[in-house]
Amino acid sequence: MSHPIASEPRVFLVGAGPGNPGLLTVRAAELLARADLVVYDQLVPPRLLDYANPAAELVCVRDLPGHHPDKYPHIHRRLIEAGKAGKVVVRLKGGDPLVFGRGGEEAEALRAAGVGYEIVPGVTAALAAGAFLEVPLTHRQSASAVALVTGHELPNKAGNKLDWQALAAFPGTLCIYMGVARLPVIVAELLKHGKNPDTPAAVVERASTGDQRSVSARLADLDEARRQAGLEAPGLIIVGEPVGRRPARSWWESRPLFGRRVLVTRPAHQAAEMVRKLEHLGAVVSRLPTVEVREPADSGPLDRVLGEVRDGKWDWLVFTSANGVQAVVRRLDALGRDLRDLGAVKLAAIGPKTAAALREYHLRADVVPDSTYSSEGLAEALGPHVAGSRVLLARANRGRELLRDELAKVATVEQVTAYDQVDAIDPDAGVLDKLRRGEVEFVTLSSSNIARGLIGAFDETIRGRVERGEVKLVAISPETGRAARELGYPVAAEATEFTADGLIVAVVKLVRGSS
Ligand code: SAH
Repeated sequence: MSHPIASEPRVFLVGAGPGNPGLLTVRAAELLARADLVVYDQLVPPRLLDYANPAAELVCVRDLPGHHPDKYPHIHRRLIEAGKAGKVVVRLKGGDPLVFGRGGEEAEALRAAGVGYEIVPGVTAALAAGAFLEVPLTHRQSASAVALVTGHELPNKAGNKLDWQALAAFPGTLCIYMGVARLPVIVAELLKHGKNPDTPAAVVERASTGDQRSVSARLADLDEARRQAGLEAPGLIIVGEPVGRRPARSWWESRPLFGRRVLVTRPAHQAAEMVRKLEHLGAVVSRLPTVEVREPADSGPLDRVLGEVRDGKWDWLVFTSANGVQAVVRRLDALGRDLRDLGAVKLAAIGPKTAAALREYHLRADVVPDSTYSSEGLAEALGPHVAGSRVLLARANRGRELLRDELAKVATVEQVTAYDQVDAIDPDAGVLDKLRRGEVEFVTLSSSNIARGLIGAFDETIRGRVERGEVKLVAISPETGRAARELGYPVAAEATEFTADGLIVAVVKLVRGSS
């Protein structure tokens, strides 16, 4: 049959990798960002869908192997119809699409229907397990081959049963997918066919994520060890001499926040970088956007002062957040103006992130505090520069008055609302249930408003957990810590550098201190 690739591919069979978002390929991320429709397997962690075009339709198929075989034609139909309708369709599958992923069957169906497609490989579970457990799947001394094996061979697949005798004699590492539920049978088959009962073996669950859990034992004891460790399907079984070379804790399991559960409360558009850094340290991250940033309900005052800045009526323009910088530049743009309107006005930023937001527009802050990134720090840094001048503070619709009050002692000061902050907690958010069940250990509070908004959504169960120290509040600054304490909640730690990075460091220090 001819290949319908003359036309541009419409359906993309994409490997999502084993769960760690860093292991998504560049191509997968590109395609997700362009997708109109994403059809994903249940095993694909929802976190990876962050990379999808926000306008894309997301459809989960309960694509568990062996269950409801009649639904595959249904998936094929969906892909074909959407592809023919001209949509960019990403069929996202855990690991690699062609390794126990039925990607081959889907490609055949697309080919038969004349729909163009592309296949994007992904990091398959065996390779992820090798790297994240530090098991060299091949080894010059003891493993010259690797076998990817299904532990869930369809019992009625005539003439196609696994050859356990050959597998027992295989001169290398066996990576057995979908086998955890049948582990006793698998071990028995291997032993029956002469595999050495002392062969090192392991079971790993959610390899490559902060939730990775694993156990090793000699083959004969593997199921007992798995049960004691409480590991369940889905997981990967690895059998072979190289498993014996595994360190007690792999490089990944030694990351400072490995397995720790952290909540990020920053607004959705600012959370991504912090989430990624925490994940990279091994954390399991939940998100609960607590405030959202919007255009001011009334842009009149901002428009007026921007006109005055253009006319040279202000000496200083002061930003207390990256949001403020973005709001001002966006507003200029919406007014059909541009950065030249800022002319000779001097610029101040409360901290490095705000200064970096200015740099994005090739603007350099004239003043940034040296080390205290707070209203106090900025007032102190700015005081000597602004005596007798006219100072404009671009800020949120709510916040502290300290900066204005301090600067007003020496300068003419006006505050203008550049953006609105609104409380945005979804009271039904599953994350609140996680807090109730004690499934989050660290709650990062990245501003006083966030602290107040979040704590406002706590109930007695969560309060109890915070009071007992099971849930720890970590504040970005003493000011934010105070906001939590004023509401009657203990604060476990405060950052010493008042930035998102400083907040992460505070969590790491808490973990180090307690271990
Ligand atoms: N296409 C996937 C495999 C799908 S079959 C791939 O290439 O990885 C589903 C099986 O994959 C699970 O039962 C489990 O055995 C294995 N698996 C997938 N991701 C895993 C992970 N992160 N850790 C351990 N096993 C995993």
